[in-house]
Amino acid sequence: MKRKEEMTLWEWLYLPEILRGLMVTGYHFWRNLSLHILHAFGLARDRRAAYTTQYPEERKRYPDVYRGSHRLTLKEDGSVRCTACFLCATACPANCIYIEAGEHPDPKVEKYPVRYEIDTLRCIYCGMCVEACPCDAIRMDTYVHPRIWGFSRLDFIETKEVLMNRSRVLMQGGRESLMEQMLRDYREEERRV
Ligand code: SF4
Ligand code: SF4
Repeated sequence: MKRKEEMTLWEWLYLPEILRGLMVTGYHFWRNLSLHILHAFGLARDRRAAYTTQYPEERKRYPDVYRGSHRLTLKEDGSVRCTACFLCATACPANCIYIEAGEHPDPKVEKYPVRYEIDTLRCIYCGMCVEACPCDAIRMDTYVHPRIWGFSRLDFIETKEVLMNRSRVLMQGGRESLMEQMLRDYREEERRV
């Protein structure tokens, strides 16, 4: 932002700049409104009426490094890879990972998470948990958004089952199917309430 002494007289008067801003806004408003009307009559369909992404019908492809919602990775037999070592929970700066460890039935495996939960209301999506994990048991390569609506805090707690299921869906149908499933779940829930 410029300081007052750095401004030209034109900028210092403010009014011309306000009018210029209104002209830009007005131009886009009338342009988009006219195009929407033309589209309603089947005309000018090759010209976009707005530059915003019409989510969820229209989606942008996220870059491969996008940090999406978490998932717990699986072993070949479909069981959870996590060994409940608590390193992710220790590294988490938001203190939002809750783990309850239990004895694994297989004597070759020491522990597994009986409960593994992430409070997504507290999570800042920093990725420290992924970095800290020595077993590649937690990832954020799901390309789906964190949940943005709910009716109680519990709606935002992602359980072990939810986190494991993301890995299953991703393996079976790829990144698009995970987004489709997430939207289906949300719509179903919306209908129920
Ligand atoms: S992304 Fe960051 S804040 Fe979220 S659970 Fe992982 S470590 Fe915690
Ligand atoms: S996700 Fe990784 S770091 Fe976290 S408890 Fe499981 S094995 Fe340890």
